[in-house]
Amino acid sequence: MHITPHIMDIVRRTVDTILPPQSLLTGSLEAGTIESDMWGAVTFLDEPCCHICGFPFEFDEGALALCGRCSIKKPVYDVCRAGFKYDDASRPLVLGFKHGGRTEGLKIFAAHMCRAGRTILEDADYLVPVPLHISRRVKRRYNQSALLASSLSKISTPSFDPDILMRNRATSTQGGRSASSRRRNVQGAFSVRQAAMARLKGSNIVLVDDVMTTGATLEACARALKRAGAAKVCALTLARVVKAAPLPT
Ligand SMILES: [Zn+2]
Repeated sequence: MHITPHIMDIVRRTVDTILPPQSLLTGSLEAGTIESDMWGAVTFLDEPCCHICGFPFEFDEGALALCGRCSIKKPVYDVCRAGFKYDDASRPLVLGFKHGGRTEGLKIFAAHMCRAGRTILEDADYLVPVPLHISRRVKRRYNQSALLASSLSKISTPSFDPDILMRNRATSTQGGRSASSRRRNVQGAFSVRQAAMARLKGSNIVLVDDVMTTGATLEACARALKRAGAAKVCALTLARVVKAAPLPT
C-alpha cells in the first residue's frame, strides 16, 4: 500500500490520541509556557571553560585556562565537554531519560552535545558509549549512553561503535558515594574487546555518557582504552555536575 502524507497525518493523530505527547520537563500532557520557562532555566554549557574538563568559567581566562582540579591532577581523558549543567532545572530531563523510558528528547539532547563537543567531534574516529552491565540493561531495557552516542553519530562524523568497550562486572550504583569511593567502585570494571584491538590502535575516541559527576567512570573507561592503544580519548556527556573543587587546606 502506498502511504500518502495525508494517511501519515491520520496515523500520527490517532497515535497522539492514544499516547498524548508528554512534556519532557514537567511530565504534563501539554507542552506550553511552563515548558519553555523550564527550558529557559536549564544552564547550557559552552566556553569559557577549563580547556580539559569543561568546568564553566564566569570570565574568559584564555584558551589554555585550567580549573582547580585539573591544575592539581590532569584527568586520564584528554578533553571532556557536556551539553548542560545537571541541577534542579535539568534533573527531570535526565532522570526521565535514564529511568523513565523518556527517549523522545534524544534529537535535542544530541544537538546540545554536538554544540558543546564540536571541537572534540571534529577529528574523532569512534563514538563509544559507556557500557552497562547486561543485568542492568535488561532491567532498564536500553543503555541510555548508547542511545545518545547513536543519535550523535547521525549529526556528526565519527562512527557509532558500541562493540569496543565492555563492562567486566556489574558495579553497584555510584550515587551517594564519595569521589574516592566512586573511583574504587569502577576500578578495573571496563576492558576492550579482543576483536576491537586492531581498529582501536592509534584511533581517536569520544566516550559518551549521560551525566558526569566526578568523572570516575569516564576515567576508568579512558584508562582501559588508552592501555589498549587509543591515541586520544575525549568524553562527551549530556549533563555534568558543576561543583568547584574544595580549596586546598
Ligand atoms: Zn578542569
